[in-house]
Amino acid sequence: MFNPALVSLECHDCRAACDLSQPRSVCPACARPLVARYDLARVRREVPRESLGRFGTDLWRYRAVLPFAADFPAVRLGEGGTPLLPLPRLAGEIGLAGLWLKEESGNPTASFKARGLALAVNGAVAFGVRGIALPSAGNAGSAAAAYAAAAGMPCRVAVPDDTPEAFVLEVRAFGAEVKLVPGTISDAGRALAGWAPAPQWWNVATFKEPFRLEGKKTLGYEIAEQLGWRLPDVILYPTGGGTGLVGMHRAFRELAELGWTDGPMPRLVAVQVAGCAPIVRAFESRAPRAEAWANAHTVASGLRVPAPFADTLILAAMRESGGTAVAVSEEDMLDAMTDLATAEGVYACPEGAATLAALRQLRRSGEVKASERVVVYDTGSGLKYPEAWRAALARRAPGQEGTR
Ligand SMILES: *Cc1c(COP(=O)(O)O)cnc(C)c1O
Repeated sequence: MFNPALVSLECHDCRAACDLSQPRSVCPACARPLVARYDLARVRREVPRESLGRFGTDLWRYRAVLPFAADFPAVRLGEGGTPLLPLPRLAGEIGLAGLWLKEESGNPTASFKARGLALAVNGAVAFGVRGIALPSAGNAGSAAAAYAAAAGMPCRVAVPDDTPEAFVLEVRAFGAEVKLVPGTISDAGRALAGWAPAPQWWNVATFKEPFRLEGKKTLGYEIAEQLGWRLPDVILYPTGGGTGLVGMHRAFRELAELGWTDGPMPRLVAVQVAGCAPIVRAFESRAPRAEAWANAHTVASGLRVPAPFADTLILAAMRESGGTAVAVSEEDMLDAMTDLATAEGVYACPEGAATLAALRQLRRSGEVKASERVVVYDTGSGLKYPEAWRAALARRAPGQEGTR
């Protein structure tokens, strides 16, 4: 069932290790997130970098460093394997040696949440659990529902009651049950305790099980391989629960240990919005943990995470990579959506556009230099965000359509 190179699941905070003999969620000793540990010396001996194509072009290409055995019949919908697009016009305008966009909207259910939920649902199958449940701001619920449908597994999703209808329709379309909860994703998370209790419903909320992180880790492997194993200097990531940021940090550490890349790790930048920036506040005040953000608000629903459970892992990823944390204004984020569309032909989600707005800030402050190679993200399709796009277009001066 599991990859023989997968040694254990280890607690990031207290270092307790557990095996895979039973369904695991968080650390049994301290209830903090578990992280998969591989025997990378063994992978290094057995799997040459050149052999990756044996497993295809989607994220299963990196199967040697994923939790499942080579013959495990994974439930797949075509997750990962997304393009890394050069942004030549914006690179010239901003002044950078290289600028690329990791364009994630081509994933199943149109966001990068597919990477994590593909792995979580396959983990549920491998553990033999009967159903999954999670709170979601939108995209995670859609992805979970799609993979649960493909696996023939029941799924319950709790969402804030102001979640855009596009997401709710999509979750229902896949046959999952939806509960609308007043408040934010934190309130939706609390609602699961009564409505979808463990162990009958395995909780696949961000960092409440170890597999979603493994799926997001493949972002780092793809960026490395797509740049010819020459890592970029800086990567900006729109940070809600932080799985992608922590996942890339893990990937770059593993890649160095595998000997597949050399040179320094990219500086990882957590991008948040002014209306919900608990990680930026913790990073700037050098706090060990993030405090919950009061009255979180933004149209970027994936960034409306007032109390990220994996705060210690996110802060470690930024500090150990020499990165930083940036909050952008709602207006700058909306204008960056327009920039990506008009300058590069990308219809981005607001979360993704926030990384371009943050890059502009870091160029102005000099924290990113003109000589550097930079990767920004589009984490999902703009098509699911009519409200944000209406606001972005309303900001364009009349008569500027088509000329901006
Ligand atoms: C969930 C989400 C994010 C935030 O990702 P995390 O890994 O939770 O930090 C960013 N963008 C979109 C479109 C999302 O759905």
